[in-house]
Amino acid sequence: MSDCIFCKIVSGDIPGDIVYQNDDVLAFRDLNPQAPTHILVIPKRHIATINELQDADAELVGKMYLAAKEIARNEGIDEAGYRTIMNCNAGAGQTVFHIHLHVLGGRQMSWPPG
Ligand code: AMP
Repeated sequence: MSDCIFCKIVSGDIPGDIVYQNDDVLAFRDLNPQAPTHILVIPKRHIATINELQDADAELVGKMYLAAKEIARNEGIDEAGYRTIMNCNAGAGQTVFHIHLHVLGGRQMSWPPG
């Protein structure tokens, strides 16, 4: 998608502070971190929202979570705990329409989220 900022990070057209990648998934630090560790895990292929996921994407979504697990270990937040969130559509706070798993840690999290 030519007008998607996360696709531009995948293609290298705009910079990202990349912490992890494999053939299917890319992860980079959030520009506006909400916790000491705040990393976004995205599929390299453009998918706008959770609502567009297909059955064939099940493995891809699993790979996003496996990446999150790896990243949490690399960041040293796996034992203390961390939160993963994927917002869907504007009412949930989604602002970038290329699915992304937020990985947040390094501080105590509260519940419920706002
Ligand atoms: P959401 O509100 O769930 O769609 O999350 C979008 C996230 O993307 C926000 O936390 C933004 O701070 C972050 N973000 C937007 N543009 C960039 C960028 N170029 N590089 C890194 N993070 C970004």
